[in-house]
Amino acid sequence: MVDQWTDAEQTQLYFSAFRLSTNGMAFFSEEGLFLRVNPAFGKQIGYPEEALNGMPWEPVIHPDDRKQIHSIMKDLVDGTPGAQPFEARLIRSDGTLVPCSVTAPVVPRPHGSPASLFVQILESDAGSDSLYRTLIEQSTDVVSMHDLSGRILYISPSCRVLLGYEPKELIGISAYDLFHPEDLTKIPGITSPMETAPNLPLSSYRIRTKNGGYVWFETSGRITGDEHDSGNGQTVICISRDISSRKQTEQQLMKTNELLQKISSIDALTGLANRRFFDERFAKEWRHAMRFSTPLSVILLDIDYFKRYNDTYGHHDGDACLQYVAEAMRRAAKRPGDMTARYGGEEFVIVLPVTDGRGALYVAERMRSEVELLRIPHRGSAVSSFVTASLGVATMIPVRDVSPRELIIRADKALYRAKQEGRNRAIAYDDE
Ligand code: GH3
Ligand code: MG
Ligand code: MG
Repeated sequence: MVDQWTDAEQTQLYFSAFRLSTNGMAFFSEEGLFLRVNPAFGKQIGYPEEALNGMPWEPVIHPDDRKQIHSIMKDLVDGTPGAQPFEARLIRSDGTLVPCSVTAPVVPRPHGSPASLFVQILESDAGSDSLYRTLIEQSTDVVSMHDLSGRILYISPSCRVLLGYEPKELIGISAYDLFHPEDLTKIPGITSPMETAPNLPLSSYRIRTKNGGYVWFETSGRITGDEHDSGNGQTVICISRDISSRKQTEQQLMKTNELLQKISSIDALTGLANRRFFDERFAKEWRHAMRFSTPLSVILLDIDYFKRYNDTYGHHDGDACLQYVAEAMRRAAKRPGDMTARYGGEEFVIVLPVTDGRGALYVAERMRSEVELLRIPHRGSAVSSFVTASLGVATMIPVRDVSPRELIIRADKALYRAKQEGRNRAIAYDDE
């Protein structure tokens, strides 16, 4: 029966099958154009069929696959066909990828007729695939796939809303090209950046939008694929979300905190009174003591070899050490009127109202001992294997025409002597 079909009828039959097939099929011409596509092909890659016929095929083929297609086409034109069908990736209009098989037909072609390749969309495991695709494409997060150099192989359509780019504008470029220059330097090993992906999440970095602005992104990533698989290589799957509004709130909060700190009376690290508050209170105590002719004492405490402590254990441990010392001082100055403050750096000051020289020296010695009893190891110290402090004590009954600064100066002189005489001691100011 078949034999009785005319050529025209057969052509009509095959043409109908081509048109009616639910499987996307197309022919690529040797000039680099779509020769024919069927309606399913257009539908599956998201372009109207009419737009595809005669359109260049390169833009819809993944950049890494174009070379192989060109080379097979060249073989075909040279009359050396026979290459195995291979898998390439088509880029849908939304930027997503879909695998296709490319075949160089072995049918002899009449002399002079153009060479063409047969392309067929492969929708493997369509059920779960489309479920995942729907999830990814509906997600408000941006899902992206990169090679290890950061180049974008796939990016989900939410990049339109969040960044203003069409997915296909981003495919093939490096994600790092979109980073804010300042944030690039935050990433360790930026020379081979995506290899640091297991260290992701990359918290808060800025990404450039289509209109030239920046949004804050937070990304978590994971390397997929086998590092020994030289064929497909490893890729990095990233999920990113816009955290601009959170960032804005954080920045506002930071500003408020800075402002609060400025107008606050508390030292943020130790919780003691800060220098500003100390100056105010000290002036008041001075006037009060003058009015009632009562002795006013001041103790200055300075940690011994603290620079070396930082050098040995690091600034973070240094800060913790300051907190312990502050705590020890609080324990030692027990009277309600006593005020302990952070004077600056690793120096502390204590004001003791209505306290004479003997009493102040007694408190200073208790403080020295409390610091020593903390037994914080200090390898760099030349006076002990633990953290110690030196203290200078001064006492005055304030009189008119003497500046309150004088009392501090005297305590500082005593402290200097305590350092000179071997540290880890409390010394009272002495005129002689
Ligand atoms: P000395 O026994 O003579 O007092 O020696 P020192 O090293 O303690 O004296 P110096 O004044 O040279 O060094 C003080 C050091 O205190 C300098 C700085 O590294 C450290 N420092 C000051 N403020 C802070 C701070 O807020 N945190 C930390 N971790 N270190 C601080
Ligand atoms: Mg000091
Ligand atoms: Mg010191």
